[in-house]
Amino acid sequence: MEIQNLTKEIRDRSLERMKKRKPEELSASWFQDDLLYSGKGKSIFIIIPTPGCSWALGDSGGCTMCSYISDCTLEPTDADTIFQLFKNEFKKYLDEIKESEEKNEKIAIKLFASGSFLNPKEVPKEARDNILKYLATNKAITEIIVESRPEYVKKEILGEIFEIIGDKLFEIAIGLESSNDETREEKINKGFSREDFEKAINTIKSLKNSHNIKSKAYILVKPILLSEKEAINEAIETAKYCEKIGVDRVSFTPATIHKGTVIEQMWRLGAYQPPWIWSVVKIINTVRKEIAIPSFMDTSGFGSRRGPYNCKKCNKELKHTIINSNLNQNMVEYENCDCMEEWIANTKIANLNKSQIKIKHLPLI
Ligand code: SF4
Ligand SMILES: [Zn+2]
Repeated sequence: MEIQNLTKEIRDRSLERMKKRKPEELSASWFQDDLLYSGKGKSIFIIIPTPGCSWALGDSGGCTMCSYISDCTLEPTDADTIFQLFKNEFKKYLDEIKESEEKNEKIAIKLFASGSFLNPKEVPKEARDNILKYLATNKAITEIIVESRPEYVKKEILGEIFEIIGDKLFEIAIGLESSNDETREEKINKGFSREDFEKAINTIKSLKNSHNIKSKAYILVKPILLSEKEAINEAIETAKYCEKIGVDRVSFTPATIHKGTVIEQMWRLGAYQPPWIWSVVKIINTVRKEIAIPSFMDTSGFGSRRGPYNCKKCNKELKHTIINSNLNQNMVEYENCDCMEEWIANTKIANLNKSQIKIKHLPLI
């Protein structure tokens, strides 16, 4: 497949240039307001060091927009080191946890493995068990969120997890990116089908009677080779599809340009621009009106050269309004801005002239 060859080539070059980093340099964390299943509360985000996403390290080269691999060790890290680093990060928030407990505020924890938390090759079972055992004893943490590709969502692994965490809520976030097969396969190089995704969602649904289990889908806003208009429509369609098949929440990730990716290559050649923030507003407002499940809009990279962009006058304010709307699940209210006209003209381009952009003709830079 053209897209796989190109992704693999770009990935290999970027891996060659990458400086190997120790696990200690890669763990990170932050704490922020969030909307939990139980209502408004706080979330602790912890990045745990892993060798890297198996899909990105394999023959496929991974997904065209993803550079998580550059935050990974590229070699196995022993379970004990992973657990110790997780604990070091977690302990930074003991004061905040106490404060939230006093206010009767709920806390969620999001464990990011820069790939699949449920894949034992990325997060060894021993590390996974120890992290979950540690969290199981903390009453303030009521919701645990992890990310995984669908092929690792298996009943036996989930059974092992619930044996440890009991009745805490456990959410698995899966990067579906798009419900459109051509987009997901040919433009994102995701490597799984809608059937694979639905199988994972059905496994989660089958456990709902006995466990507090939830699912979330990530939806990529504006993959490569889509016009602004196509990108808006596909993101909305994907959210509707997710609701229809029983996903509990959706989270949109507007594309940003990360180093060592196919998307960066196309951006450098002038063949790709991240979405307008107006497109993002259009998506979230339509989705909040037309579907009932909670929807979130990631605002990372907004207003930067490599991220979603409108104009200097309105970038910042819209970003804050979107962050607030995530917490309240309301519509994004905005004032018109001069840049809107240019956006409207942009969305009138219904289809890219695809004959001009041929993956196989992209020079490697
Ligand atoms: S998006 Fe997910 S599956 Fe794709 S390469 Fe990145 S971590 Fe791996
Ligand atoms: Zn503007």
